[in-house]
Amino acid sequence: MDGVRNKTVRPVKSLIRRWFATLALAASLLLAGLGTAVALVEAPSRNPTHEDILRGFDASALSASREDVAYGGSYDPVGMIVKWQTPIVYKIEGLRSRPEAINLAIATLQQQAALAGIEVRAAKAPSEANYTLTFGNAAGYNIGDRKAVCFLTYNFNTTGQMQWAKLQINLAAPSLERCVRHEILHGFGLMNHPHRLHSVLSYHVGDQMAEMTEADIVMLRSLYDPRIRPAMSRLAALSITDSLIEANRRSLNPRAPAKTDAAPVLRDVIADLDKAAARGNVRAMMYLAEAAWQGYGMPKDPARMTAWIERASATPDVVARFDLAHALSSGRYMPKDSTRAAALYRRNAELGHAVSQNNYAVMLRDGIGVPADPVAALSWFILAARGKVAMAERSRRALMQNLPPAQQQEALRRAAAWRPVAEPPR
Ligand SMILES: [Zn+2]
Repeated sequence: MDGVRNKTVRPVKSLIRRWFATLALAASLLLAGLGTAVALVEAPSRNPTHEDILRGFDASALSASREDVAYGGSYDPVGMIVKWQTPIVYKIEGLRSRPEAINLAIATLQQQAALAGIEVRAAKAPSEANYTLTFGNAAGYNIGDRKAVCFLTYNFNTTGQMQWAKLQINLAAPSLERCVRHEILHGFGLMNHPHRLHSVLSYHVGDQMAEMTEADIVMLRSLYDPRIRPAMSRLAALSITDSLIEANRRSLNPRAPAKTDAAPVLRDVIADLDKAAARGNVRAMMYLAEAAWQGYGMPKDPARMTAWIERASATPDVVARFDLAHALSSGRYMPKDSTRAAALYRRNAELGHAVSQNNYAVMLRDGIGVPADPVAALSWFILAARGKVAMAERSRRALMQNLPPAQQQEALRRAAAWRPVAEPPR
């Protein structure tokens, strides 16, 4: 199979949204196991069509899980635009025995940053670095039970902004140039492998080049166009990337084949989502609700949108229910519905999901989606703080000071008496 993606960090750190939690992914280049699934894909053309690049952009920038969906896996919340918004400040660690490898990595970082329009410089002190280049000579880094030649771990926040990246380069790699260019490109937000595209990111057997291709440059420039905003959903991004790819392609190669349009790509994405939703995948249902709301790949259809939200709301999965509640309370991917969001958070809170307890408490405190009830809010803040939600502890203290002693006592009594309800068997 293709590379392994390890979620090395996915903590639930916080508060109003689980998405405040940072997400990290490791993209890997493997020595072994470039398997048959990839070989079955038709050889990519060296003169890709506009649609080929759009599909490549979708596969690499918009959904780290697109292939997982196709192969029956789960849909995770990474189907959003992630990019650098700050200068890249790098530091070098590990072996210094191969200066040419260090120079290659720095030059690649500078080349790709220039295409993206991102400033890059060396750290003056190690503590200010947000990008680490580590060189070693191990036979391979362990990723799960497999050995990787080089790999990159990166971390971004809920608003789609890259926070840091760490690239580990194995100097014994059989193809150091490919390894470095491939991983650094991942680190700009092209996270996945567009196997059908002639690209340094593809693992197509017999087509694993070391240099970036025209398609890579067009994808990188399109991703860093300001109209593509961090945290944009994949459907929203796909519907506008079409024209950006066209423009970037023309500027690079005036004789590039004419643009088609995004419609067939969007239709395929919707078909994938339909399949995933039929398997009960709540994230896919949320995308379909967004598509029906905005008219991405289908006519605008409020009734269809509502039907998908209803189905997603019935999920027994606590994390999926949290994502849905967050989407409904933020109005980011579907119309804001605070009442439904509060009901979903409440269900999770009753089951003992600490971040949901905090979020439900906020709604009770502020009277959003539910009538304001400071005593109930305080009791949920107490429970969420006990569940190690840092912001809940601050909110608990602040609210405590504003309530008369009788109400404080009542909230403490309720929190002490609280027991999680058992989730009914699935
Ligand atoms: Zn990779």
